[in-house]
Amino acid sequence: MTHFRSCNLCEAMCGVRIETEGDRVVSIRGDEADPFSRGYICPKATALGDIHHDPDRLRRPLRRSGSTWHEISWQEALDETAARIHRIRSEHGPHAVGMYLGNPTVHNYGALLYSVLFAKVLRSRSRFSATSVDQLPKMLASLLLYGHQVMMSVPDIDRTDCFLIFGGNPAVSNGSLMSAPGMKHRIAAIRARGGRVIVFDPRRTETAELADEHVFVRPGSDALILAAMLQVLFAEDQIRLGHLAQAVTGLDALREAVRDLTPERVAPATGVPAETLRRIVRSYAQSERAVLYGRLGVSTHHFGGLCNWLIDVINIVSGHFDRKGGAMFTSPAVDLVQLGTWLDQKGHHDKFRSRVRGIPEFGGELPAACMAEEIDTPGEKQIRALITHAGNPVLSTPNGSRLDAGLARLDFMVAIDIYLNETTRHAHIILPPTFALEHDHYDLAFHALAVRNTAKYSPALFAKAADQRHDWQIFAGLMTRLLQHDAQSGRAKDVVLARLLSLLSDKEQGWLDPARALDLLLHIGPHGLRRTQKRLSLATLLRDENRHGVDLGPLERCMPARLLTRDKRIDVATPVMLADFPRLRASLAAAQQVEADAKTLLLIGRRQLRSNNSWCHNSERLVKGPDRCTLIMNPSDATQRSISEGERVRIRSRVGEVVAPVVISTEVMPGVVSLPHGFGHHRPGTRWRVAEAHPGVSANDLTDDLLVDPVAGTAHLSGVPVTVERAAADLDTLRQSAPQ
Ligand code: SF4
Repeated sequence: MTHFRSCNLCEAMCGVRIETEGDRVVSIRGDEADPFSRGYICPKATALGDIHHDPDRLRRPLRRSGSTWHEISWQEALDETAARIHRIRSEHGPHAVGMYLGNPTVHNYGALLYSVLFAKVLRSRSRFSATSVDQLPKMLASLLLYGHQVMMSVPDIDRTDCFLIFGGNPAVSNGSLMSAPGMKHRIAAIRARGGRVIVFDPRRTETAELADEHVFVRPGSDALILAAMLQVLFAEDQIRLGHLAQAVTGLDALREAVRDLTPERVAPATGVPAETLRRIVRSYAQSERAVLYGRLGVSTHHFGGLCNWLIDVINIVSGHFDRKGGAMFTSPAVDLVQLGTWLDQKGHHDKFRSRVRGIPEFGGELPAACMAEEIDTPGEKQIRALITHAGNPVLSTPNGSRLDAGLARLDFMVAIDIYLNETTRHAHIILPPTFALEHDHYDLAFHALAVRNTAKYSPALFAKAADQRHDWQIFAGLMTRLLQHDAQSGRAKDVVLARLLSLLSDKEQGWLDPARALDLLLHIGPHGLRRTQKRLSLATLLRDENRHGVDLGPLERCMPARLLTRDKRIDVATPVMLADFPRLRASLAAAQQVEADAKTLLLIGRRQLRSNNSWCHNSERLVKGPDRCTLIMNPSDATQRSISEGERVRIRSRVGEVVAPVVISTEVMPGVVSLPHGFGHHRPGTRWRVAEAHPGVSANDLTDDLLVDPVAGTAHLSGVPVTVERAAADLDTLRQSAPQ
């Protein structure tokens, strides 16, 4: 049989054509008829089949006794989980139960919708997610500038003539917060129509290889470069507000904030020659269609908030905002901005702070960098139980070893996960949901962040077995039971809700099925039944002619009408950001001190086409070939340390050390080393045999949980100070040093 659907492994939403025979996937190829991806797929698409058939994938609930796992029934697993969470909440209060949502949660609309409801029922402030090791600063900038945390601008790359990229590698990621499958072709198209692509990055990335120009940047100094770009725009009278002239306020204060941060002043700290920066700013400012884009490298460092805000502000004041080829907004079929507005959930920041370190919350979540200390540190509201969904924070959050040790001490942990991995090995109970091909799919989040408006619904390929549960059913099962416990304990207002949920959530096709919610959201969305000729609903998307997806057209101008700020204006003199400028100025001197310390190198990550955080490493097809968990080092740094190509080196930071093979290359600038994250599968007690055979080391055994952006709370993962020396450690040494 032939099936058409979207790949949900990353943000690109590529259309795939999957051939099946019986219950087996026999091939996965790009779907040429998909209006968005037009046949493009990356090598990871095959992992959809590999993970589906993976003998290591968990299919029934497990309970741990010591280091031994036993299968138990769903009834038993859900009852016990709810009872233990309830007991801990009763004894220590709701904040003693933490929750962590991994990146795949957002790629699964049922899980996404139900995790939001579950969080309401949990009533805990100890909530964390992959957001704070990723895109949080962009969401914060959106909240502060436009009044809604998910009203995020997207570069209109298919119509731009000048594309400036900071700390992003879209040729490998296929766009991040900018879903754009086939990014290499899109970059080639910009250049073919006479446009320019310029990359600022401490590494000559795969994107930089395709670009017109690559500028090396000292890790962590991007905010200085961006401030200097803004300074040039003001100093050279390149401010153009166009149709937003009446909607933008605060220009004078903004000008003052950057007045002294000239390209010449920041050059020693950033490594970017002043004349280079001035030339690029002029070219950007004078291009009719230009856009500035920043991603992980400028989000996960100590000025992530400032960087993301500056990027949007520069696009706004230079006239490259809300117009063709600039930073624009989608009009998705399911409009989460609209929904959040109706539900009065536009987002918030710094309503409360973390217990131990006092870091501000964002959208009700605390930074993942605080999770280990909230578990470790005794006192009221200490986390004693944890629920994880589709996450492996031991490998994906800073100072993973500290978290690893903390998880082992929890009174109770439950993991909703398909693998027994470095994190879930600490769980007392694992509740494994279905995998992608066993449930339907609609990209709630990423249609809203794409470079073109499209909509696509993918029915399930395979029916789930009778003894399997979807993620949303697991959340519903736990919610029902928790509410029943609460009701029995006298929380009267939960009685009615508990009864309702227990009646309805057992009916798998009842109105609680997320497809019903999706249908409603499509009906009331911007392309819904009464809104446009498309008249989108679930039934429309299920029509045969729409099985490859529906094209809803290019991004369109929508400002200032869509602004959700109180005064319907954009304040570019955002107080919380301007208050961060003294810290930015102080970083000028700090950067030069690090420069002078010849021993210290700055560690950055790197995204790889065949890897997706930690969870695609059990696909033989994706991990075969040469070891990809290598440290890339500049020849001058290698010579200084007498390190040769391929040699194993010991990398040390404040929090730990790992040993990895070295690749010597001018791909990274002097003073910088690069290690991919998501590896480190040497810890005992996991059950993913392919990954264990290709363990690598975890970059997050080096990243420091104490280093965060104090404004956004995002972890500082890019530019971590390390030392590197020759080593001869082997895998056994690593195994012995890993927490049990
Ligand atoms: S880029 Fe690869 S992993 Fe991402 S959606 Fe496309 S095929 Fe899937």
